[in-house]
Amino acid sequence: MTRELTYTAVAVLSALGAAAWRVSITQDESSGDTAEKRSTASSQSRPSKDDNKESMMRFQYSTSGYDVTPLSRQRVEELASRLDPDTYNVTQRAGTEAPFCGGLLDNKKEGVYTCVVCGLPLFSSDHKFNSGTGWPSFHTEFDRDHVARRTDESHGMMRTEINCARCGSHLGHVFNDEPKPTWERHCLNSASLSFIEKGAPVPEESRPAAAQTAYFAGGCFWGMEHYFQLGPGVLDAVSGYMQGNPKSPSYKQVCGGDTGHAETVKVVLDPKRISYRRLLEAFFEMHDPTQLNRQGPDIGDQYRSGIWYVDEYQKREVEKFIEELASTKRFGSRKIVTQVEPAETFWPAEDYHQDYIEKTGGACHVSDPW
Ligand code: FE
Repeated sequence: MTRELTYTAVAVLSALGAAAWRVSITQDESSGDTAEKRSTASSQSRPSKDDNKESMMRFQYSTSGYDVTPLSRQRVEELASRLDPDTYNVTQRAGTEAPFCGGLLDNKKEGVYTCVVCGLPLFSSDHKFNSGTGWPSFHTEFDRDHVARRTDESHGMMRTEINCARCGSHLGHVFNDEPKPTWERHCLNSASLSFIEKGAPVPEESRPAAAQTAYFAGGCFWGMEHYFQLGPGVLDAVSGYMQGNPKSPSYKQVCGGDTGHAETVKVVLDPKRISYRRLLEAFFEMHDPTQLNRQGPDIGDQYRSGIWYVDEYQKREVEKFIEELASTKRFGSRKIVTQVEPAETFWPAEDYHQDYIEKTGGACHVSDPW
């Protein structure tokens, strides 16, 4: 982890009302359960060479840019101590409220449903539907990285429990018995949720982290990750896979060429120190956006040029930038074929792909854009 990331993360955590709230990489510090329940958010850990184990910390950001670093057990207990007994029982002891009794069952207002314990956005009114079961139901998560899953074999049944990915609080279960678009029914306890109506003030703990996230696919991720990591104001860069199926693919699967994933670099940036536009400039310096489904010797759609935006701001910036770039004739008559799509889930690549250039001293198809 870079020193910059440490400071930024501590600032973010402090803003969340968690002074001196640092999450150690060791299992002892955070609950083993919580670590196991960690969902798809990628780790932003980058220990410097002289860090010792005790000072190594692991911060995680979700696809939509929220800090989803699992809270320590101590912090969860502190937050949970403010709950009323019924809410405590549901969220901390995996209780279930009686059907047709929860306060949010019939809520039809537009807004976001957050974790009642830590404030992480979990579900959106856009995805709420009446399942007839007596519990609030959603067909998808606010962000897949915000809701963790684990097998629940209690009461003689085999179910999938869902929990807040940040604080581990029990939410309910997810079932595969609903129709399109996801074939999933997230069955919630109202007690596990707070509701923030559209237009109402959003508390600090329910906002995206100060750091922002951007995703770039420009061929082999080794060199892209290496040079993005060197960018001034870049807090971290991680190699991974996006925009395909199945979930959590292996390198071997992606290399098969038929999963639809693109080798992608997740870039965590400090927007006060580097703009998204500057990252776009670097990205288009580092690769040839006119090559379709390849970069140099690497051939296949996993090496395609792509930008996966996380919000409307990024979408507008990308479209404007590509339009300007095309008008410069920098690439002659060759057309820019970079795909621009909303970001889907980021799946971190295997450990041996991370920091590959740094670890091996090898070269890649990209050069230093800074
Ligand atoms: Fe939570």
